Amino acid sequence: MANPQHGKPGQARPKRGQPPAQQARGQPARRRGVEFGQAMDFLSHTGRYRYFRAGLAWPPDKAPSMALTATPIPCLSDNYAWLLRAADGRLAVCDPAEDAPVAAAVEAMGGKLDLILLTHHHGDHVAGVPGLVARYGAKVVGAAADKHRLPPLDQALAPGDRVDVLGSTAEVLASDGHTRGHIAYHIADSRILLCGDTLFSLGCGRLLEGNAEQMFASLAALAALPGETLVCCGHEYTESNARFAITVEPDNAALWARIAEAKAQRAAGKPTLPSTIASERAANPFVRAADVATLARIRAAKDTFR
Ligand SMILES: [Zn+2]
Repeated sequence: MANPQHGKPGQARPKRGQPPAQQARGQPARRRGVEFGQAMDFLSHTGRYRYFRAGLAWPPDKAPSMALTATPIPCLSDNYAWLLRAADGRLAVCDPAEDAPVAAAVEAMGGKLDLILLTHHHGDHVAGVPGLVARYGAKVVGAAADKHRLPPLDQALAPGDRVDVLGSTAEVLASDGHTRGHIAYHIADSRILLCGDTLFSLGCGRLLEGNAEQMFASLAALAALPGETLVCCGHEYTESNARFAITVEPDNAALWARIAEAKAQRAAGKPTLPSTIASERAANPFVRAADVATLARIRAAKDTFR
């Protein structure tokens, strides 16, 4: 999970599970902050920041052709449905919380929706399904384990299954913890992860039905995906997650960099998502938790954090 290859140059990377006080010992934070800022200036001036953040080598390899693109569609107060578009223009959507904003995006992109993917049963992930099915006749796929509490499924999926998404293949990953029966979809040829309410940028889902052991396993599986994988999650929680995350790892330079990036994105009226798996491995304290007990402790602390 914590692959040293993905560490950042010039960054004092704390060991996983090491208490923050120990990380800080003997390292004057102010001086290191200046050095880090200078490094970031260099990276942004040379255009390398994007590669630096994704943990990719510089110079970049020839960009691979992406089969699908993923666009966040804001729904409700802070949800995102993810609109997937194939090179031939076909469309799919993951977790439509509402039908109207998704339909507006579909109309702007050709007026045809082929497929709806669901990660879990919560209303703010499925409420748009009936309207979109009525309007477009889209096929619906979701977890077999949640079949009894999801809208009617055309295909019920189990972890390990592979499902066709507009000509690309999505692998279905077990993703329990937030709910029982939660699944995630990894579309390897497009470097897309649809992870619902399991992994957020700088956070993870609340343990509403599952336990910390399940969430730890789910996060470990997602963190093991390639670093450049795009984290397409269900909520714009990054800034509020950041306020808690920095109390857990106050000396994590990658976390400070991600916070600065998220603030700039929100100030520009943009989503902070997708994030990348490499970024979450470097900056997300829930992904970086060394063991189940640590994850359980910080998840419980976040539940009451204000
Ligand atoms: Zn949920």
